[in-house]
Amino acid sequence: MRILLASSEVYPYSKTGGLADMVGSLAKTLAHGGHRVGIVTPLYAGIRERFPQLQRLDLPLEFPLGAQRVRGETWSLDPIEGLSVYFVDQPGFYQRADLYQNEGTDYPDNAERFMFFSKAAAHLALHLPWEPEVMHLHDWQTSPAALLLQHQRRLAGQGSTPGICLTIHNLAYQGLFPAAKYALMNLPGDYFTPNGVEFYGQMSCLKAGIVYADVITTVSPRYAREITTEESGCGLDGLLRQRNSSLVGILNGVDYEEWNTVSDTYVKHPYSAADLSGKAANKLELQREFGLPVEASIPLFGNIGRLTEQKGVVLLLGALEEMLSTGLQFVAVGSGSSAFQRAYQELARRFPAQVSVHIGFDEGRSHRIEAGCDFFLMPSRFEPCGLNQMYGLRYGTIPIVRTTGGLDDTVVDIRDDAARANGIKFIEYSATALAKGVRKALTLYAEPELLHRYRQNAMTADFSWNRTVGEYLKVYQKAQDHGGRVAHP
Ligand code: ADP
Repeated sequence: MRILLASSEVYPYSKTGGLADMVGSLAKTLAHGGHRVGIVTPLYAGIRERFPQLQRLDLPLEFPLGAQRVRGETWSLDPIEGLSVYFVDQPGFYQRADLYQNEGTDYPDNAERFMFFSKAAAHLALHLPWEPEVMHLHDWQTSPAALLLQHQRRLAGQGSTPGICLTIHNLAYQGLFPAAKYALMNLPGDYFTPNGVEFYGQMSCLKAGIVYADVITTVSPRYAREITTEESGCGLDGLLRQRNSSLVGILNGVDYEEWNTVSDTYVKHPYSAADLSGKAANKLELQREFGLPVEASIPLFGNIGRLTEQKGVVLLLGALEEMLSTGLQFVAVGSGSSAFQRAYQELARRFPAQVSVHIGFDEGRSHRIEAGCDFFLMPSRFEPCGLNQMYGLRYGTIPIVRTTGGLDDTVVDIRDDAARANGIKFIEYSATALAKGVRKALTLYAEPELLHRYRQNAMTADFSWNRTVGEYLKVYQKAQDHGGRVAHP
């Protein structure tokens, strides 16, 4: 098939979270499978310097944006056969220090930035010479493109656009803006209704995707069910229930070329399920790197991630407060809310021999934490898929997770299946429940043979894209059947 993906972040060009990993690795898997694949993404600061082979294409971008006309350029790169990455170059919008925010506050022109980006994505979907059959949109930042393409269908008829697939990576981020921002779409007013992109008087970018995409996916089967409930539907559950026959949960895959214990360039000692001695050596390296006492016998717990409410930081802090008396160590890399950053630093200050945190975004450290820790803590309040627990499994670092979304779909607790157990699950969203999970981990740690079995189960669990890419191809076919462009002659 010919598939164009659009995402506001793509690894290895830009990344703040799992979205970048997912889009980069799905596109690669599709291209390896012989499909023609493109990705549209913004040209952020620093990308040109890191990828000097970028080439300017004769695909100028110029669109009305409300009362203005905004111009940009398209640059591209072909990292592997069958895959082209198209960078939308609009320096005023994208040449900034961060992707979405400045010091924790969203950029005031995010509506302009991502409506322009959505226009560029829809434009490329219609005008790339290889005529994409499917446009695969990701999250609110590209969702307005679904409406733009449907409008094109209204003008030029069925079959005049690619089929439209939207993947929701996190329903909590909807791209909500004041109603006046709808003018940036430069479309007739009849789409701005409760049946269209209006959400209680505001413009909802994500809703544009949910209403106008031909098919919708989300990133785990359990999260697909959760978002149709009032409790987890973020006000969009009614609409998602209406669209239930077009909604599928497909578990994200892991890029095992990037996350590979044998060839990880960020990690000093390679290891495998057959020989875990390198993992033991990496643990000592990690203790040294984080300035903690270097001692093989101390159980080492880790965490990586955005410091937001969603990730259960409050639970982490509470459970650590209770469990540090057992002598365990904890290391983390993360950034986000300044209150959580301060709380982490304060804990490290009070327990310098047991807690060490690195505030910031650091790809290398994230790999070394996965490789060197004994246990990975992921007490999320909700988790659409979660990648870190899957990276932990592959690295033999036993995840301790709350039973929500993709965490529940990927980790096997002894109560689910004793023979296949590879992690520890707890249900209640409370520090006490997490502390109980940590206590179980300490018991497991004291039983080396059982711990070894958990590690073997973890490291051999398969979350490769090869398992799930076929599900995306089915969804793409459905999108195309729904109204997509007819196949190339
Ligand atoms: P989310 O997408 O909600 O942030 P995921 O677990 O799906 O959570 O994916 C997070 C991705 O971002 C992982 O690849 C993780 O290693 C990475 N990541 C998050 N925060 C950091 C950080 N501070 N430093 C390095 N990598 C990080």
